Amino acid sequence: MVYEVKGVVARSKGAPVTVETVTVPDPGPGEAVVDVQACGVCHTDLHYRDGGINDDYPFLLGHEAAGVVSAVGEGVTNVAVGDFVVLNWRAVCGQCRACLKGELQYCFATHNAARKMTLADGTELSPALGIGAFVEKTLVHSGQCTKVDPAAPATAAGLLGCGVMAGVGAAINTGGVRRGESVAVFGCGGVGDAAIAGAKLAGATTIVAVDIDDRKLAWAERFGATHTVNSRQTDAVEAIKGCTDGFGVDVAIDAVGHPAVFEQAFYARDLAGRVVLVGVPTPDMRITLPLIEVFGRGGAIRSSWYGDCLPSRDFPMLVDLYRQGRFPLEDFVSETIGIDDVESAFEKMHSGDVLRSVVVL
Ligand SMILES: [Zn+2]
Ligand SMILES: [Zn+2]
Repeated sequence: MVYEVKGVVARSKGAPVTVETVTVPDPGPGEAVVDVQACGVCHTDLHYRDGGINDDYPFLLGHEAAGVVSAVGEGVTNVAVGDFVVLNWRAVCGQCRACLKGELQYCFATHNAARKMTLADGTELSPALGIGAFVEKTLVHSGQCTKVDPAAPATAAGLLGCGVMAGVGAAINTGGVRRGESVAVFGCGGVGDAAIAGAKLAGATTIVAVDIDDRKLAWAERFGATHTVNSRQTDAVEAIKGCTDGFGVDVAIDAVGHPAVFEQAFYARDLAGRVVLVGVPTPDMRITLPLIEVFGRGGAIRSSWYGDCLPSRDFPMLVDLYRQGRFPLEDFVSETIGIDDVESAFEKMHSGDVLRSVVVL
């Protein structure tokens, strides 16, 4: 059987996205079809539209999604029809050199569906991050489906599939934030606020939020920031030292991905502290640091891919904590919108008016 459904497609570089008929095949071996219930609008979708990822147009956008499995292919054992799942882009292979070392969170050969979704004329679609979820039904590898408590609303749970997990993971997995530590987070959009919420969850007692927009700093306080710094008005490094007895923080998280911000994060940490880069830089960006400072300050400089998460371990845990009132997953949802509203959601995201717009399908 083949399904004809509506989906959000980016046809060419920079052009506004359009809602098109998408043909979804039956799942092949190891694959699953998921009826998408909700999918968040992420900066990465906009980067795909604008050609910032690659030129494999047309793209089927959307990748922060939750829904219900409606069909499974041969040999699928991890999920069954009717399961409520969050989609992930880290379906681990179990066989690459990272997996064989027991470091599945770094898997270098993650699975995507082999069968292709197409436009009505047969043109193959490139699904964003191997998912493609601004669509009523999507085809994924079964490993991209992570079962979670179905009592969680899809609008909130879906956000774990990308931005929220990246931020939380930057704090708790990559940064290894521990009880009583001090943390600074640069950039208080969805990923940065998730890093703040993650630092709070891990028991950090000083959490400094840094941004150039006072609206975002107000959001950051809601997620657990104990101090805020507007770095347009104040020197961020000095302000952070002022919150930490002059020493700097144990963990400094750059959720922007810009050389000037990374440099602030580098100098805002205490001796032997950790710097975590989770914001995604562009290929032209360069950083220059005195090597003696890299050595002399000790500690670690780490990058965080997808929050170094293992979806099977981290998604159900965060949904459970949310259900227990210990993690504010729902607060990341600024608004719910329809499938026709993705283009206007990009504009709102650009102007910093929303944390996350979530498409309800
Ligand atoms: Zn692997
Ligand atoms: Zn994303």
